[in-house]
Amino acid sequence: MTSTLYQQIQQFYDASSGLWEQVWGEHMHHGYYGPEGNLKKERRQAQIDLIEELLIWASVSSSSHILDVGCGIGGSSLYLAEKFNATVTGITLSPVQANRAAERAKIAGLETRANFQVADALNLPFADDSFDLVWSLESGEHMPNKIKFLQECYRVLKPGGTLMMATWCHRPLTENAGQLTDKERKQLAEIYRVYALPYVISLPEYEAIAENLSFTNIRTADWSTAVAPFWDVVIDSTFNPLVLVNLLLSGWSTIQGALSLGLMRDGYQQGLIKFGLLCGNK
Ligand code: SAH
Repeated sequence: MTSTLYQQIQQFYDASSGLWEQVWGEHMHHGYYGPEGNLKKERRQAQIDLIEELLIWASVSSSSHILDVGCGIGGSSLYLAEKFNATVTGITLSPVQANRAAERAKIAGLETRANFQVADALNLPFADDSFDLVWSLESGEHMPNKIKFLQECYRVLKPGGTLMMATWCHRPLTENAGQLTDKERKQLAEIYRVYALPYVISLPEYEAIAENLSFTNIRTADWSTAVAPFWDVVIDSTFNPLVLVNLLLSGWSTIQGALSLGLMRDGYQQGLIKFGLLCGNK
């Protein structure tokens, strides 16, 4: 199951990352539109603002050794390396992304401080206590074992280091809201299929995992309202001849992903999809 899933994730990002970069730039994550989600801003700026807001939220003001888990083409990795004058390691399942991230590091003159490799987040090829910041922006949803994922993040953190994670979740299963309905499960299954996700969990479930792993100062937040406008912006931008032509050239998995952008927008509208944040220290 894991090898098939990993192949799907790799193929998805190998095939779509070039188009994404060409049209939307180096950041493959949501944008931040203010706490109420009503600020009008340029899309790329909104994506940079998300990084800055996350740093403020997690009280990260400096770092020297950063691990970017699920680094895409190194959008956050290089941003953080530059901002903190830090050394950064980025991992991804996609060789296309790792190569492109390394190329971008070179262009930015950061190749001595930024290293990118294909590696599995569930089996990190790094020693215990290696990093003072583990950063994971929208990769947790791809992990087939959420416990192992956080366990590995914890292991490689230096004592006192910080984990900052933002990930797609489903709504909490509270007594009032109840279990997921059949309709919700079907909707999630569609999202899993097109975006190569095994399953997602709720934010309280992530919090419980972090507690069991002995993270300290654990905090969580639901930023769904702040980021949800992102999908409308992306949907609008696909109605452009350049994007449409390149989409057709990128292959079926990318086309499917694009055709399904409305699934995420609807998921937020219905309160089914949540953008969950978790931070904690070792
Ligand atoms: N954080 C980046 C990219 C998010 S896309 C950004 O904000 O721009 C999700 C990333 O998670 C992809 O790079 C994908 O390869 C990576 N990923 C998914 N599962 C992974 C795993 N098991 N190990 C390492 N990386 C993984």
